[in-house]
This record gives sequence, C-alpha cells and structure tokens, in this order.
Amino acid sequence: MDPQQPAEPVYYICGDCGMEIPLKPNDVIQCRECGYRILYKKRTRRIVQYEAR
Ligand SMILES: [Zn+2]
Repeated sequence: MDPQQPAEPVYYICGDCGMEIPLKPNDVIQCRECGYRILYKKRTRRIVQYEAR
C-alpha cells in the first residue's frame, strides 16, 4: 500500500480457466470468473500464489 504508486492494473492469467484478469496492486489475487487463486503474471509468466485467509 504505497500512495506514491499509481494504481496501474497488471494482467494475470488464471491458472484454471485461463481468463485474463486485470489486477491493481491492492486487489486480491483471485480469478473473478472461477475463484481460482493461482494466477500467472502475463509478462513474466511467473506463478503468483496467495494463501486463503
Ligand atoms: Zn479462473
């Protein structure tokens, strides 16, 4: 949470349904289509996983 940073959406690809999801830095990493929480960052294709709370 940095107020200096502009909230530019970063695109992620859902690891389950493959949907493209724009996420801002403070958004929850979760597919809005199927609820899957493993999303691939589109540019780096590095896996990003958040544990459920
Ligand atoms: Zn999905």
